[in-house]
Amino acid sequence: MTHAICTRCGAMKFGCLTTCTTCGQMPVSGRQLAYAHLFSDHYFDLPQLRAWSRLVQDGISRLPPADAETEADFLAAYGLGRPPQIGRASCRERV
Ligand SMILES: [Zn+2]
Repeated sequence: MTHAICTRCGAMKFGCLTTCTTCGQMPVSGRQLAYAHLFSDHYFDLPQLRAWSRLVQDGISRLPPADAETEADFLAAYGLGRPPQIGRASCRERV
């Protein structure tokens, strides 16, 4: 099961493309899907995700933005911007 951070409220959730049980957000747009995938255990280890989750939920900081190259790759993978260069099938599981 994928551990991920809700990109709206910062809560930890299971499955990067699932609805957040804390705030109700479900990633829908290409940008939301890309960032939901990025802030998952596919790309960061669980202690890092939990640390960011605490900072966001405590109002101390926001999720760090992806660097331009990473963001471009993720947006392309979801059909926005340049042609796809990475896969997305690994993050399609649902709770
Ligand atoms: Zn949320």
